[in-house]
Amino acid sequence: MAQDILVVGELADGALSATTVELLGAAVRLAEGGRVSVTLLGSAAPAAAAPAFAAGADRAFVSGDGGYEPFRSDPWVAAVQAAITQAQPAVVLLAQSTVGRDLGPRLAFRLDTAAAMDCVQLAIEGGSFRATRPCFGGNALASYSFATSPAIATARAKSQDALDPPRAGATGETVALPGPAEARTEVTGREQAAATGLRLQDAPVVVSGGRGLGGPEGFRLIEQLAAAIGTHRAAVGSSRAACDMGWYPVSQQVGLTGKVVTPDLYIAVAISGASQHMAGCSGAKAIVAINRDPEANIFKAARYGIVGDYKLVLPPLIEAIRALD
Ligand SMILES: Cc1cc2nc3c(=O)[nH]c(=O)nc-3n(C[C@H](O)[C@H](O)[C@H](O)COP(=O)(O)OP(=O)(O)OC[C@H]3O[C@@H](n4cnc5c(N)ncnc54)[C@H](O)[C@@H]3O)c2cc1C
Repeated sequence: MAQDILVVGELADGALSATTVELLGAAVRLAEGGRVSVTLLGSAAPAAAAPAFAAGADRAFVSGDGGYEPFRSDPWVAAVQAAITQAQPAVVLLAQSTVGRDLGPRLAFRLDTAAAMDCVQLAIEGGSFRATRPCFGGNALASYSFATSPAIATARAKSQDALDPPRAGATGETVALPGPAEARTEVTGREQAAATGLRLQDAPVVVSGGRGLGGPEGFRLIEQLAAAIGTHRAAVGSSRAACDMGWYPVSQQVGLTGKVVTPDLYIAVAISGASQHMAGCSGAKAIVAINRDPEANIFKAARYGIVGDYKLVLPPLIEAIRALD
């Protein structure tokens, strides 16, 4: 049954964010012929409408007012609510990002409906929207249907597939949204976290090290493994235990209180696989574990495992990967 879907779009460096493109792909599949709308806010929004149509949107609610940048919830929630009032969607999709985490529950409260956060699967079953998300620290999946409308869901980056191929040259309807409403908050400054290479959340391969590395020097081998795989493909992560000891920057922590990553391949080196760590990596398509304890919990989640001392396992593995090029 066709249903209308609204995606809350986000822009990154003046272009549609990768997650917005993925959500538009999901929206086309869920709409089953219904109308897909997107909200685009900020000075780069008008230019982002055409890529949004190519990514699957039929209609874009746009305001190019620079007052929407940087993100503040008051003006954004008012603008998205105005778009929802016009579009009357059955489902509102947001990214599990700073924006989505903030707006999802606010919209649900304002619209007297419910929000399912951090979803990894979005589906229509028996004509109804169903959202699935990890629970119990990533050890189980909970599936939600909605008794109220619109259903609101935030989805993890890379959990949805973009339209393939995109609708090159597609056009759609553009509806102007008003400029930002008054905000009760002011952003007084922004500080960029120092980071080189791929962002953890964007990397198709994440190589993470844990307390079993024995010290910060152990991370040099982890970095060498990531470099052998390719700096354009692999990023380095860490368990909280290793971050807490100051062996690796907290910005690279994976887990419940760190980053949630969904790479194609997650290589966990000297990490036990505590539930709080798995909450950040259980969405990986394949996990490879390297641990000297054959009983380590990580092996339960791993598709491939190597039981051994990482100091003996990694050097030949790095050599073998280098030899592939
Ligand atoms: C509220 C809360 C939030 C948390 N959030 C997070 C989070 O976001 N991320 C996170 O990671 N943790 C988090 N934790 C901590 C979590 O519970 C674990 O303590 C932590 O993940 C353990 O890190 P680890 O696996 O590196 O260390 P350990 O559990 O100590 O495991 C080290 C592993 O290394 C192996 N090993 C040792 N030497 C070698 C060797 N030479 N070669 C190969 N293997 C070796 C050992 O067999 C062991 O399995 C949180 C905890 C709480 C209470």
